[in-house]
Formats: sequence, C-alpha cells, structure tokens
Amino acid sequence: MTTKATSYLTHFRNIGIAAHIDAGKTTTTERILYYTGRTHNIGEVHDGAATMDWMEQERERGITITAAATTAKWKHSATGEEYTVNIIDTPGHVDFTIEVERSMRVLDGAVAVFDSSQGVEPQSETVWRQADRYGVPRIAFSNKMDKTGASFELVLSDIRERLGAIPAPIQYPMGQESDFKGIIDLVRQRAHTYTNDLGTDIEETDIPEQYMDKVREMRAQLIEAAAEVDEAVMDKYLEGEEPTVEELVSALRKGTVEKKIFPVLCGSALKNKGVQLLLDAVVDYLPSPLEVPAIRGHIEDSEETRDFPADPDGKLAALAFKIMADPYVGRLTFVRIYSGTLSSGSYVFNASKGKRERVGRLLRMHANSREDVTELKAGELGAVIGLKDAGTGNTLIGDGDEKVLLESIDVPEPVIKLAIEPKTKADQDKMGIGLQRLAEEDPTFRVESDPESGQTTIAGMGELHLEILVDRLKREYKVDANVGAPQVAYRETITKAVDVEGKFVRQSGGRGQFGHVKIKAEPLPPGSGFVFENVVVGGTVPREFIKPAQ
Ligand code: GDP
Repeated sequence: MTTKATSYLTHFRNIGIAAHIDAGKTTTTERILYYTGRTHNIGEVHDGAATMDWMEQERERGITITAAATTAKWKHSATGEEYTVNIIDTPGHVDFTIEVERSMRVLDGAVAVFDSSQGVEPQSETVWRQADRYGVPRIAFSNKMDKTGASFELVLSDIRERLGAIPAPIQYPMGQESDFKGIIDLVRQRAHTYTNDLGTDIEETDIPEQYMDKVREMRAQLIEAAAEVDEAVMDKYLEGEEPTVEELVSALRKGTVEKKIFPVLCGSALKNKGVQLLLDAVVDYLPSPLEVPAIRGHIEDSEETRDFPADPDGKLAALAFKIMADPYVGRLTFVRIYSGTLSSGSYVFNASKGKRERVGRLLRMHANSREDVTELKAGELGAVIGLKDAGTGNTLIGDGDEKVLLESIDVPEPVIKLAIEPKTKADQDKMGIGLQRLAEEDPTFRVESDPESGQTTIAGMGELHLEILVDRLKREYKVDANVGAPQVAYRETITKAVDVEGKFVRQSGGRGQFGHVKIKAEPLPPGSGFVFENVVVGGTVPREFIKPAQ
C-alpha cells in the first residue's frame, strides 16, 4: 500500500541483469550506467576507470564475480518522471552460483539478457530457474540484434520452448544483423530509427508502412495477453475496443509483476540501440519495492513468522548480502533495507549471530563514485562500513535482541577441493587470517583441516572459484603456498534422474529441487540409480555424461 511515507518507493526499481556469459551483460550494464549519466564515456566501465567489476582479477579474466549494488537515476522518455534504479550486479559464470543466488534474494526484478544469435543458452536457463525460485519478475532483452545470425524470433521461440515461459514481445526489430536499423515500440506504436552507432542520433516516427501488417498482428497478440491478466483490458477487448497506452502498460505491468507475462525487447547494447527503451521498460514493467511480497522473518525456535513490509517508519529489517574487502575503508557490508531506516552511527542487532553491532558510515555506490549518506531507507541498497561480524545472509534488526531471521540465501555445498600448503611459518600465519576472511565473505568457500596429516584443504564451487581465491590469498594476504590438484569434494547420489533434455529432479541432498547438473556420471549397480560426481546444481549436464544405471 502506498502511503505518504512510502510514496518515494513507487519511483524505485531494484534490478539485476542476468545472462549467460558473453550475452552482453557487461556491455548492457555499462550502457545503462552511461545513459543514466553516471559514467562519462562509453567504454569507461570496460577500461576499468569506473567499474561494476571491482576486482583486479575480474578485469583480467573478463568475468564478473562480485555483486555490487550501484545506484542510478533514469528519467522515463515518455512520461518525463525520474526514477532511482539500483542495479545489483549478478555474475554470469556458473562457478559463482551463490553470487547469483544472493543477488536474486535482494532484487525485485531482473533483465534477462540473451544473445539473439544464440537464443537461450544453458546458463541463461540456469539463471532463469534461479529467478523462478526466488519469484523474480523479469523482462527479456534480445541483445546483439546487429550480429550475424541474430534472430528475434529465435529468442522468442527459445523462451517459449526452453524456458517454458510465455514471451510477450513489446517491440519488433526493424531489420536484423548488419541491417538492424531500429526498433518498433508495439505498445506506444512508434518507430525509433538509429542513424548512427553511438545512440546519439535517434529519430522517432510513425511506424513505416512495410511493418504495419506485422505490427497489427503482434499488437493484437499483446493486447490478448494483457486482457488475460487485467479485467479493464478484457472488458474493452470483448467490446472490440483498443485499450489506451496507459491501460495496456498497466495491464502488462500487472502480468509481469505476477510473473505471468515476460515482456521481450530487442536491441544492440554494443551499437547503442535500444538501451534507453530498455530503461523505460524497467520503469514501466518491473515492480517497485511496494509491489513485491513483504520479506518474511522467522522467529528462532518458534513457528512464528513476521512480515516486514517496505516502510521507512517500520522496525529495521535488513539483509547483508555481500561482504567485500575494500582497500580504502576496510570491510564493506552490502545491505538491502527491507523495512525501517538504517542510520550511520546507530546500533543494530545481528540476529543471525546474536550480537549487537555498531554501524559506522553508510555509502551509496554509484558507478564511479561513493556517496556518504546518513541513512538508508526501506527499499534502498547500500554499503555499511564498521560492521565487524556481519556475514553474507545475516539479518540485521533494529531495537532489542529479538532473534528474527529473514529468509536468507541458499548456500550450495562445495564441489571441488584442493590441498594448500604454506611455504613458511610466516605464510602459515598469514594464510590462517586470509582464509578466515575469505570464508566470511563467501559462504560457498570452506576451509577444512585433515586431523591426521594436519593438511589444510579448501573447498569451493569450481576450479575457477578456487583459483581466484588462491590468487587473492597471494595478492591480498601475501601468502606463498603450494597448491595441490583439484579433487571432487563430494559425491551425490541422484536417485531419480531424468528426461531427455538432461534435466532431473534432485532428490538427494535434501531439497528435491529441480536443477541441472554438470559433469561426470558413473553407472551404479542395477536399481541403485545414478551417481554423478562433482555435481553442480545450476550447471548443465552434457548429454553424453548422463548414463542410466544398467
Ligand atoms: P557478458 O559476459 O555477458 O558480460 O558479455 P560482454 O558484455 O562482456 O560482451 C561479450 C562480447 O559480446 C563482447 O565482445 C562484446 O563487445 C560483445 N557484445 C556485447 N553486446 C553486443 C551487441 O549488442 N552486439 C554485438 N555484435 N556484440 C556485442
């Protein structure tokens, strides 16, 4: 419900950009930051001057590991109203599934970026399922429309067939591949033609005659989809009347928030085509913090639950979703405030750890600057300096010491481990400190020591994951160590495996969740099911690795 106190939230969008690696997430994010005026040159993000990819290794490896939250402003091109868009970075590499999970937890809506020449790729599917699990409304961006082989239809049919979702194209491309010239907005019935690749010269006109048949057909389908979820549009539809633009937007918004409709847009982030329209769609269709269900808190040792609706005047309830070591200010704890207001200099109760902690400074992060703020209100995301004990997934509560735990983040079991041996006694001491800090930052990273040999092993989500952690031990904690070969950390028996696509229902491991696995399958004796070694839920199973028990 919107009240005077919560009215600012109608102009808030907390979103993530999710994609298969290489689909163009970084480029799209970079363009969004450029068009929202927070970076000054296109390419600045890639060059590393201002960056969503914070760490050196990320730049070197060209992958995005961390999930920083960045605040931007966007003025809707049609309505002229200004919105705050918080972008929660989600990584595209499967080894960092936990990073995707934690960002899913704190965002309200997502933009799924697809490569139009590839359609829906395995990892896009993984991310899509994660978004389903967290109930995240989505819009899809069919990127790389300029690329050879690009096909908007391919993306639409893949969404239908591979993701089992109903795509609602709200745009239609004018030309494809090297002939991609512009975008037709099916909702507002306007054509946007880009006369250069810099996105500086855009002509908005009536829809060219040659596209009219296609547009009529697609718009009729869009209106039908809107009518399915909205009575006002349905009534008009039955009368043979067209809804107004506002009615259509509002109906599509309702369907998107309810996750019945997935609006699909097209463009080319690289060639600066379609990014402004994508931002308008974020505002038009993705929910504000007031439109998502209130986060639920579970009161420890009881069956009781409590909901925390987005209200700055309510009791403080916040979730720490990312811990980062910062070279300048030390430990940064990224938080999402669900309810109440977090003030700098105040005390909060870390309900997960049972400890009272003092909040030092509060920062709002922009693409190329950090802003010191005195408070963060319900619906906002930012970073806290000064929290010593808060770990990823911890609940922070205001006043008192009630043990309320917010619905947190699923932490998958590590799948790969390796032995690590410090070279000297001094290295051993530094390694102890480093490993402890890294494990606090990243709950999927485990440190174990073998009671017999005294050897230390580290376990994580994949080879790249561990490689990066070892790299950080060397760089940040100056540890010189020998590292053993990676080994499988655990085995999981899948008792029911199945369908032709290589999808299966995971029955072991407790949860019975739907997932995809990757890697080696080893047949067991008849009747005992399947054994997958090195199972990564959220990965993909190459078909040839799935072998039924004989
Ligand atoms: P990410 O891995 O999803 O973050 O993908 P990037 O944004 O790093 O893009 C991967 C590659 O695709 C880079 O070489 C980009 O220049 C390229 N790329 C991104 N967007 C487009 C686009 O719209 N068209 C074309 N042709 N290439 C693109």
